[in-house]
Amino acid sequence: MEFLDQMSMPTVLKRRARSNRISLRVNENGLRINAGEHIPDPEIETFVQKKSAWIDKQWQKYELALNEKGYLYLGELKDLEFFQDKDLEKFYRAETGRIVKGLLEIHNEDDKYDINKVFIKGQKTRWGSCSSAGNLNFNWRLAMAPTEVIEYIIIHELCHRIEMNHSKEFWRLVQEKCPEFRRHKAWLKRNQFRLNI
Ligand SMILES: [Zn+2]
Repeated sequence: MEFLDQMSMPTVLKRRARSNRISLRVNENGLRINAGEHIPDPEIETFVQKKSAWIDKQWQKYELALNEKGYLYLGELKDLEFFQDKDLEKFYRAETGRIVKGLLEIHNEDDKYDINKVFIKGQKTRWGSCSSAGNLNFNWRLAMAPTEVIEYIIIHELCHRIEMNHSKEFWRLVQEKCPEFRRHKAWLKRNQFRLNI
């Protein structure tokens, strides 16, 4: 079911035999939907949509607690021991810079996208952006994401050098370079709260 990938928290659906109801539970792992095995998909989707305000409120309680348990590095949760005395921002900045540089060498060979400068920034609300002057900005927290998700962000911003919007044509360009982009977008949405560190 497509809406499961678009939820802003990890979401699993469990089908239950001998049940004809839908119930929701939110905990630190995300949202769990229990639904009777004969309930049609659209009915489940409508039910979840109706409860979305409640779900978001519950999930907010766990978001910050999750960040305290450890942090992601290339998509894997590392406990605090992994980071030891490292200055988190310094660590992620260096890693993000290194990875972004390497991926740009691959995807922007011969500077075919005609980019100006690359900045590693600390925006709270976005993972990357592209200015009309051709500067690419990437969030220093990007090294939290799995490599293929970082690659999607790079491709996304490079494609903005051709289409400065999110038109159909823009998404066609992205898809050409990154066929699985929908899955990566969903990861970013689910992990948006990690921008809070
Ligand atoms: Zn964009």
